[in-house]
Amino acid sequence: MNTPELFGSMVFGDAAMQSRLPLETYQALKKTIARGSHLELDVANVVAKAMKDWALEKGATHFSHWFQPMTGVTAEKHESFISPATNDSHDTQNEGKAIMAFSGKALVKGEPDASAFPSGGLRATFEARGYTAWDPTSYAFIKNNTLCIPTAFCSYAGDALDKKTPLLRSVQAINKQAMRILKLLKNTSDTAAAGKAVRVTVGAEQEYFLIDKQMYLKRPDLIYCGRTLFGAKPPKGQELEDHYFGAIKPRVSAFMQELNQELWKLGVFSKIEHNEAAPAQHELAPVFSSVNIAADHNQLTMELMKTVADKHGLTCLLHEKPFEGVNGSSKHINWSLSTDKGVNLFEPGETPFDNAQFLLFLVAVIKAADKHQDLLRMSAASAGNDLRLGENEAPPSIISVFLGDELTDILTAIENGEEYQGREKVLMEIGVTALPHFPKDINDRNRTSPFAFTGNKFEFRTPGSSASVADSCTVMNTIVADTLCGFADTLEKSGNSNKDLEKLIKTAIKEHKRIIFNGNNYSPAWEFTAEERGLLNLKTAVDALPCMIKKENIELFKRHGVFSESELHARYEVMLEHYCKIMHIEALTMLDLMKKEVIPAVVAYQNDLVKLIKNKKICEDNVSCPVFGFLLEQKLLIKLSGLSDLLLEDLEKLEENTNRIKGGDLKAKAEYYRTQIAGGMDRLRKTADEIESMTGRRYWGLPLYGEILYSVN
Ligand code: ADP
Ligand code: MG
Repeated sequence: MNTPELFGSMVFGDAAMQSRLPLETYQALKKTIARGSHLELDVANVVAKAMKDWALEKGATHFSHWFQPMTGVTAEKHESFISPATNDSHDTQNEGKAIMAFSGKALVKGEPDASAFPSGGLRATFEARGYTAWDPTSYAFIKNNTLCIPTAFCSYAGDALDKKTPLLRSVQAINKQAMRILKLLKNTSDTAAAGKAVRVTVGAEQEYFLIDKQMYLKRPDLIYCGRTLFGAKPPKGQELEDHYFGAIKPRVSAFMQELNQELWKLGVFSKIEHNEAAPAQHELAPVFSSVNIAADHNQLTMELMKTVADKHGLTCLLHEKPFEGVNGSSKHINWSLSTDKGVNLFEPGETPFDNAQFLLFLVAVIKAADKHQDLLRMSAASAGNDLRLGENEAPPSIISVFLGDELTDILTAIENGEEYQGREKVLMEIGVTALPHFPKDINDRNRTSPFAFTGNKFEFRTPGSSASVADSCTVMNTIVADTLCGFADTLEKSGNSNKDLEKLIKTAIKEHKRIIFNGNNYSPAWEFTAEERGLLNLKTAVDALPCMIKKENIELFKRHGVFSESELHARYEVMLEHYCKIMHIEALTMLDLMKKEVIPAVVAYQNDLVKLIKNKKICEDNVSCPVFGFLLEQKLLIKLSGLSDLLLEDLEKLEENTNRIKGGDLKAKAEYYRTQIAGGMDRLRKTADEIESMTGRRYWGLPLYGEILYSVN
């Protein structure tokens, strides 16, 4: 099959629907997809039958509702199409025979026994089941001989238990508010057409590490935690910058090829692949799509990266910081808004009208980012990302917006009502002046910014590699929707919309320009400057997560129908609990590895050194050979003995602290993990890494950093 034929061949997409559904069913379904309207059961029955026939032709035997619980990974429960051919005991002809069946009811609603998924208390045990509901805006697909139906996952009371439901709600919110703005703006000029809907477009660049599977299997820390808990720096890391965009090695290339094929079959527009900065680090970027699909596709991409790697004797690591001392992995979320006609609202246009529109949406994002720094930071909060942010070429925990000098100058000129001193001198008057063209590439030079405007979209770089696209996008959609709502409220009341539009833009720039930062976000000086500007610096997940249940944030999400108060509380609990569990597993793994690997290694090495000294002494006493040198073994022994004592002390302390943790207040518990446990682990690691760097290779059972990072050819 050639690539265009392969593409989407395992997706029950528009082409399959059109060719397999009666026209009126197809039209009813399209209406549901476009408007989110209700799908009648008789229509669902017809769709289910066509879907099943298509899936059977492709070799599927099972179907599954595919959903994204709050664990952050996807869940599926397979059910075979197989059914008894008859329930009628008199029907002897068909008795004992099987047919392949799939009803409209099974398509639109599922009832997984979901009591083991986190609910944050939203689901009392007597109503533990929860249900999944078909999301027709994301197409069904076949994976592992199973027809997967993308679904939302809710409790019986209708509370969202997943990541998709709030995302879909936030899409509705931003569509509503952006449409209000477009309708208002349309009246100011006849050159534009408002269109019917505004959609959120997203392209998520996915970073990952690829290592040899045999190495992986020898590192329990990678197996249990997805990251290494020890490891001294190898002599060569990423300092030569020879891996970034370097030639792709054959094994990696074979992996990428198969991954692409598999993704293409599922309709995922995998487009760009290259080596990243750290050794063994790579990136994949798809062509952008609407946010709901982008979120689903990113989950599929992460899943397939793991399974395809395994087939190639490799292991894909999606943790934010698998190795200390080299870059961590991120998920750059490129986010934009466009009309149903495909007009990108962040594209500076040719006409004054287009530019008023562009500027209004631009300052809406700037205002939203400044006003809701806490929520943006929170949306990317996880134990894994804490290790990445602010380290080795990752943005700090401070949220700021990069616009580039040219666009910043334009905004400054607008704010002050001055001439813009760019290539062409123009007085910046909104709705009158065309914006000067600024070359796009200039805007993409700053790779240090957490939230960068890159010509016609924003790129949010704070999220970690394993994050769900849905989390950050739900927040971005909601905070921008809220800002647009405020703008629309003002403009709808306005008697002179052109003048008020200008005032609105000016005020937003004046009040929120502190969030704009075009300098080096990695520099330590930025932390001070940011503090002077009053920007938040929520360093860890434990600092960031509580903003979810701040009064004004609850009101914000409620106002736009994205989360109810109880949903937010539940999510907050799930996130904190998840954080604590991760930290606990890491501490236990570290203690275990200490006892099973590090201590035996250092003891064996010291034992050999002691034996050597003893033997030399015997020689000295018994053989008439007068002078023996003892310096090397003595020095080593003294140093290692000292470090071993320190190691034991740190180990006992960590063990004691870990065992001490009981139930109680979740926030206090998380705080304890962040300070006592993470701090204790840091100390222990430092000592262990120093011991590793002094210990002979043959004593050390674990693969070393250098061996793991350079294991794939
Ligand atoms: P980079 O310099 O960051 O690699 P690219 O041009 O390669 O920039 O784009 C990165 C990602 O941004 C891709 O996934 C691309 O599809 C996505 N992207 C481009 N335009 C848009 C848009 N209008 N909305 C959302 N994502 C977009
Ligand atoms: Mg990028």
